[in-house]
Amino acid sequence: VDTVIRNGIIVTASDIYRADVAISDGVISTIGHTIEPTSATEIDATGCYVIPGGIDVHTHLETPSFGAVSVDDFLTGTRAAAWGGTTTIIDFCPQEHGKSLTDALDEWHRHATGNAAVDYGFHSIVVDPSPVVLEELRHLPAQGIPTFKIFLAYRGMSMVDDLALARIMDIACESGAMVMVHAENGDVVYHRQRTLLAQGHTEPKYHAVSRPPRVEAEATARAIALAELSGASLYIVHVSCQEALEEVRRGRERGVKVWAETCPQYLFTSEEDLDRPDFEGAKYVFTPPPRHRHNQAALWQALADGTLQVISSDHSPWNFRGHKDLGRDDFTKIPNGGHGIEERLMLTYQGVEQGFLTLSRFVDITATSPAKIFGLYPKKGTIAIGSDADLVLWDPQAELTLSSQSHHSALDYSMYEGLSIRGVPRTVLLRGTPIISNRNLAATEPRGEFLSRILAKC
Ligand code: MN
Ligand code: MN
Repeated sequence: VDTVIRNGIIVTASDIYRADVAISDGVISTIGHTIEPTSATEIDATGCYVIPGGIDVHTHLETPSFGAVSVDDFLTGTRAAAWGGTTTIIDFCPQEHGKSLTDALDEWHRHATGNAAVDYGFHSIVVDPSPVVLEELRHLPAQGIPTFKIFLAYRGMSMVDDLALARIMDIACESGAMVMVHAENGDVVYHRQRTLLAQGHTEPKYHAVSRPPRVEAEATARAIALAELSGASLYIVHVSCQEALEEVRRGRERGVKVWAETCPQYLFTSEEDLDRPDFEGAKYVFTPPPRHRHNQAALWQALADGTLQVISSDHSPWNFRGHKDLGRDDFTKIPNGGHGIEERLMLTYQGVEQGFLTLSRFVDITATSPAKIFGLYPKKGTIAIGSDADLVLWDPQAELTLSSQSHHSALDYSMYEGLSIRGVPRTVLLRGTPIISNRNLAATEPRGEFLSRILAKC
């Protein structure tokens, strides 16, 4: 035994109980009340919940877009993740037009190797579905990449058509992969953007006008219908509104293999934020856009009742100065993206504080279901004998005021500036070794490893 965590309350997706945890070689070796005193490192978890390390399945680290690169690299991004209680991320690796998926994945391995503070996997984004690339897709699950992402939005950039989506779904089904979809109708968004700009509507608030809820709901329904026809497994990223939730609910009731997530920004911001003065609205230009407030309650409800299984961050950080600025005269040129790799668990935990979520449901949507859906369970996402000792000592009484002054992302602003929350990760262990210890950085050397994932064939 290397480490014993004593006096905490263990919380999993199904149980809450008082027990101590012993860790050997980075793995949970004993859970019980009778772990003898040893020479092992002792960690006192009095007053804390002991929860599985968070799993964030939707991040965009050092990713090129809008002629720039997102501001968190693997070191700053994964350190921020660890500060927030996340010990595994799955980052999106985008294909470049005319290049292979393998080229892109080689580059992502170079970004991450030796630089990640937490464990990581990759999804492969297909933007240019040529016959050669489609053939290449079949071989990705064998390389530990069983998740393919496509965009139904961003016409002229990364959007693919329904023919490509249908082909990719069949390939996914045959090769043991799942298809992830950014669901917005990119043609309609393009049309609305051109119309708004021609009318002189250039400010950030028109970002939301250009892509209203029905644009998202239409593409969500279409992706679900295509998955139903193919038999493929489908995952809808960043569901933001009641209209799209209704489509997910209907698909699941029909028995379609569809899973879906939302993100904290849809629970904590609204379209009013896009109208902040002095171009500050640009800080809230992410996609889908922040919605009318009434959607927040609908999303909390969907997280609680199982319509949504996961909360992810869609961490895609662009500085206010130098990046968001690019769209001062044209909202379509504002780099799309927000942040949340650090704040995700703390913001979601406010749902426990406010009575929207049970403690076990909080663990389920932040760790256990992401592990199950993305091929990491039970190595990750739970507290069980034989699982990796990725553990968070969660202090439910500690309070924190969110701010760009104190966050660990390289981003020059916070969407949550001044927001006070209760419930903070005190100590965070990756495979038994503290990254964060009593709110101090404990691990100076990044020791995150690549996670080769596998999904069942359909
Ligand atoms: Mn997206
Ligand atoms: Mn994204």
